[in-house]
Amino acid sequence: MNSLSDFAVRVDLRYAFPACPRPIGTTLLRLCLIAAIGFATVIASSVCSWSQEPTWPVKHTAGQFCIHSTVPAAQFEAYLPSLYSLPAELSQTLQVSVAQELIQVVVLENREALDAYAHRIFPSAPNRGALYIRHRGPGLVLTYFHDGWICDVRHECTHALLDVSGLTLPLWQDEGLAEYFETIGENPIGHTSHLQATRSQVRYGQVVDLQKMERMEFGSGLNPKEYRDAWSIVTFLLHSSEETRSMYQQYLQDHQSKRAVGFLSHRLAPKIPSWREAFSDFYRR
Ligand SMILES: [Zn+2]
Repeated sequence: MNSLSDFAVRVDLRYAFPACPRPIGTTLLRLCLIAAIGFATVIASSVCSWSQEPTWPVKHTAGQFCIHSTVPAAQFEAYLPSLYSLPAELSQTLQVSVAQELIQVVVLENREALDAYAHRIFPSAPNRGALYIRHRGPGLVLTYFHDGWICDVRHECTHALLDVSGLTLPLWQDEGLAEYFETIGENPIGHTSHLQATRSQVRYGQVVDLQKMERMEFGSGLNPKEYRDAWSIVTFLLHSSEETRSMYQQYLQDHQSKRAVGFLSHRLAPKIPSWREAFSDFYRR
């Protein structure tokens, strides 16, 4: 039953590094097993009854997020406003309707615990630093706490919110938007690593090819450069001009309404005679 093929599973492939080799202790295994039983409960009920499970040291519900954690709340509660604001940010920025569906967020104490927990639920799940898993019940986001936790959880919850809102986008756009919304702070285009790297690429005349991106197959997920390229296109569309922003918002609304969408590049062509020039100018600002 619990195999990847049995579920509508969306696994984030961003963090493709090997699992930590340190052996998992008995206590942790027991905790993960109990926690997995808690997950089965929530799948069956499709409500936030999981928070009634006695196995989670920390349980917290706000808005459409149910957080279940083995990490003391004091470690991450300062970040929570940046998580709870995410649905409104998506709605406002993308001008789409964001479903109010429940999303379960698990915060485990380290990477080992995350790997063990994910494998308890989905034995064939790959080892990843953060996952979004979709089933018939609530969406489930699995994370572990570390310095970049808020970025990870915003990234995965962006996938979850787009999914539950009926926005089934091409993978590169789904990842581009997740990368975009993982950023917190005053500057929405100030991604900690992508902005400078994209500017450097542009300085050397390397411009992301939108048409090529639209036609690529991403069967095994995106590589790190493709994540950056996806982010740079989405960010360009949302911030280069009011015209491109409106065009992209309309494109997303068409996706959500299940209307024929076509290629982004075709919609942009009448507005932007030279993609290369417009993209370069934006990242030279
Ligand atoms: Zn992702």
